[in-house]
Amino acid sequence: MKPALAMAEPSEPGSSAGTSEPPECGSYAGYRAHINRDEDPCDRCKVANAAYMRSWRASQEERPCACCGLPGRIVSRGWRQACYERWNSAGRPAGGPPPPRMSRAQALIEYRAIRGTSTDEVIAERLGVGIKTIRRYEAALRQAGLVW
Ligand SMILES: [Zn+2]
Ligand SMILES: [Zn+2]
Repeated sequence: MKPALAMAEPSEPGSSAGTSEPPECGSYAGYRAHINRDEDPCDRCKVANAAYMRSWRASQEERPCACCGLPGRIVSRGWRQACYERWNSAGRPAGGPPPPRMSRAQALIEYRAIRGTSTDEVIAERLGVGIKTIRRYEAALRQAGLVW
């Protein structure tokens, strides 16, 4: 008969910690399991957690959209959510997302975000409006004291 070793054994990380199977070490789940058990995560789990956090942060990071140049969380094809959805609902055209159809208020906000990043012509195209409209946006923002 083997005696019950669990209590007598000196602490050996990962072994005989509980009744249910603990998640494998070297994974983010393993790291969480250490934390839940109130232990210091082992090195393999620390590495896995660091990698997990890195990729999570990268997915949260705001980057300029390949379609419109506005910063946002990139979801697919280098586009942000709004542009990807526009592309989807337009029937996934080969040319990429169509220009956004925005209310004037939305367009003003977007314009304010990208004004000065390119020529007025390029910005007008990105916003799907004419150059005269861009000039009106600029005047409106200045009048409201939002840009100077
Ligand atoms: Zn571990
Ligand atoms: Zn975009």
